[in-house]
Amino acid sequence: MAGLESGNLTPEEYDAYVEKMRQDEYPMIADALYLDHAGTTVYSKRLMERFHRDMMANLLGNPHSASQSSQHATQLIDSVRSKLLHLCNADPAYFDVVFTANATAAIKLVMEAFREQSEGFWYGYHVDSHTSLVGAREVAIAHHCFKSDAEVEAWVDAAHPSRPAGRSQLFAFPAQSNMNGRRLPLYWSMRMRRAFQRTYTLLDAASYASTSPLDLRDVDASPDFTALSLYKIFGFPDLGALIVRKAAAHVFDKRKYFGGGTVDMVLCSKEQWHVKKSGSLHERLEDGTLPVHSILALNAAIDTHAELFGTLDRVSQHTAALAKRLYDGLTALKHGSGRDVCTIYTNASSLYGDSRNQGPIVAFNLRDSNGDWVSNTEIEKLASIKNIHLRTGGVCNPGGIAQWLHLAPWEMRENFSAGQRCGGEYDILNGKPAGVVRLSLGAMSTTSDVKRFVAFLEEFFVNKNCQSQAPVAGCEVSEKSEQRFHIESLTVYPIKSCAGWQISHGTTWEVRDEGLVWDREWCIVHQTTVKALSQKQHPRMALIRPSLDFRQGVLRIHAPGSADTVIVPLSQDPGVFDKPDFAQRDATVCGDRIAAQVYASQSVARFLTEAVGVPCTLARFPVGTASDSAGRHSKAHLKQGGEAIGVPRPLLLSNESPILTISRSSLNRLNEQIKARGGKAAHPSVFRANIVLAESPLLPPGLEQPFAEDHWQSMRIGGERGPVLDFLGGCRRCQMVCIDQVSGEKNQEPFVTLAKTRRAEGKVLFGVHTALRVERAGGAMIAARQSVQTS
Ligand SMILES: *Cc1c(COP(=O)(O)O)cnc(C)c1O
Repeated sequence: MAGLESGNLTPEEYDAYVEKMRQDEYPMIADALYLDHAGTTVYSKRLMERFHRDMMANLLGNPHSASQSSQHATQLIDSVRSKLLHLCNADPAYFDVVFTANATAAIKLVMEAFREQSEGFWYGYHVDSHTSLVGAREVAIAHHCFKSDAEVEAWVDAAHPSRPAGRSQLFAFPAQSNMNGRRLPLYWSMRMRRAFQRTYTLLDAASYASTSPLDLRDVDASPDFTALSLYKIFGFPDLGALIVRKAAAHVFDKRKYFGGGTVDMVLCSKEQWHVKKSGSLHERLEDGTLPVHSILALNAAIDTHAELFGTLDRVSQHTAALAKRLYDGLTALKHGSGRDVCTIYTNASSLYGDSRNQGPIVAFNLRDSNGDWVSNTEIEKLASIKNIHLRTGGVCNPGGIAQWLHLAPWEMRENFSAGQRCGGEYDILNGKPAGVVRLSLGAMSTTSDVKRFVAFLEEFFVNKNCQSQAPVAGCEVSEKSEQRFHIESLTVYPIKSCAGWQISHGTTWEVRDEGLVWDREWCIVHQTTVKALSQKQHPRMALIRPSLDFRQGVLRIHAPGSADTVIVPLSQDPGVFDKPDFAQRDATVCGDRIAAQVYASQSVARFLTEAVGVPCTLARFPVGTASDSAGRHSKAHLKQGGEAIGVPRPLLLSNESPILTISRSSLNRLNEQIKARGGKAAHPSVFRANIVLAESPLLPPGLEQPFAEDHWQSMRIGGERGPVLDFLGGCRRCQMVCIDQVSGEKNQEPFVTLAKTRRAEGKVLFGVHTALRVERAGGAMIAARQSVQTS
């Protein structure tokens, strides 16, 4: 610490200092690779301790009264205001600061003031703007998006200062693009002020200020309005701010609204009259009670940040050097064929390492060795397993995304109608990525983070072989397809995302269009949102064990650590229930809306809430509706090559297709590969298959046919006259296969090995989607141990 205070550390020493310091100060990211700093909520232990001390030592009253506690709060707020202005080199004679909830609220304050101007306002914004700036256009009389810096310059060059603008103009731009970290010219404020009348500038410094000092020393060159997200600098508290140049404060004179805090006297009854506060700008704009305790925390945050990291200038140098390393590391990644792995969204004028033009954010997409785009969803799944925190998608920067990904407006609309939303699965459409991967470095990032991330890409996304990637690596096809397989086991999952129930050998089981009977007929829904819960978010669901008891006619539900069981009738006949038992409610399952029957029983709700840990209850898919036009249908009816086969199959509550089949031989092969890497073999239950096929007779490993199912079209079960099941394509896997179905714990395997050995066209495949052949519709019977004839 002493070294930091003396300010004499070399860049390498500073890096080593941060590395060590964050082990103590940021325990919540001790094992994580945290690359989502823009929007960070990571705060230091020291800040929390200081905040705690300050909270216990101070009684803060609601400001605006004469009590001691109130006075104390007022003094505190004033001194934090000065501290924040000082941090931005903003002289209080020329600037005022207004506390807001976040940067967006700061932007809205400005937008509302302009909306009240007598002739409305014209709004110009730069294409690199965050969504929160773009949104202001909706209340402007006219607006324009500047597609480049050159267009802004040309607009200013063409201005005639003597000719007054017809109405007020507001030009908004980000100090740093939150998409790729490009920094925009801050001198625009001054140029515009000189070139136009009645023209104001709004600087969105939310991204920029998180790793750079904001310098408002030169009043004439400063923006009129500067929006900040304070939590992006300090991690805590959740506050924003608007810094206003007092020379532009008159814009707020037309503000109509007043609230508690911004008005001196109001008459309501016979006469409608009020006197608004006329003091400082912040008094006129801060409606309602100020977040006093958050402001107390901000006081501690500013001091702690300086103690831990030194000046923001120091942070800026540190992060600029790291960003350069990261950029160089990503650029150097090549496939064996010589092709680039990363396509980085930057232009020549933005040189990493030069903090005037470029901030510590890198946005990119990956290509495989064939030159095809890698889906960001795949990257996210692996990153999540490796405890890497990054952001993918549109990152709230619509203009930047469209420009860098060359997406035309019609393509963005088409992507939207194809289901692409913030955070959606469909991220490559028409052969183009619809979003980016974004890495943001922050004050507590270090060289080791950069190395770790580059090594991660190297491990999973770089193909060192010279040849192009085979469609599916590790697939071996045997010429003949004799009657070598049989059904090893059959499993149903009565409650979606909970444990399976294995059908005893010797029991024949009905298969219908929508799958094995009793499979995924129930689900657990959140009590408030009525969304079906999934193991992905709630791994403890794996430990909830449903069992079917046909003798009693009930479904029994067991949960770990509970002596109780919940029992619900299998019958849907209303006669067997105590009324009222169900409420029909609109539920959401995998994004589909369905009318579910939600159990009304308090004891069921209590039992499941206890077991899962969130307020939830049981719901049932009303049988008989599956094949209605209103029912759900399988999404897995595309074969390799994108050629559609067959028709969409009806579904109950399963994710993608009626039945999932896996092969024991494929699992054996996978487990050999996992063990060869020193990992723990995967239990078949993690794949949540309905049908497990095995070879007969059992063969020694070398003679098995792993992944033969990749090439099968169908299977006939139990001899010549048996039912035929069609294969609809490979099952795309996610990190859910890493949840141990016995302990509920998360592992890295088998997803890590699958991602290395079973990736085809950006999808990690294991198991095959299966459905009863259409002409057999109406049902058929199958059983474990039956032979399987594949073709
Ligand atoms: C994060 C961010 C915002 C939004 O900030 P909030 O505090 O979430 O309202 C706006 N602009 C940029 C450039 C950002 O990075």
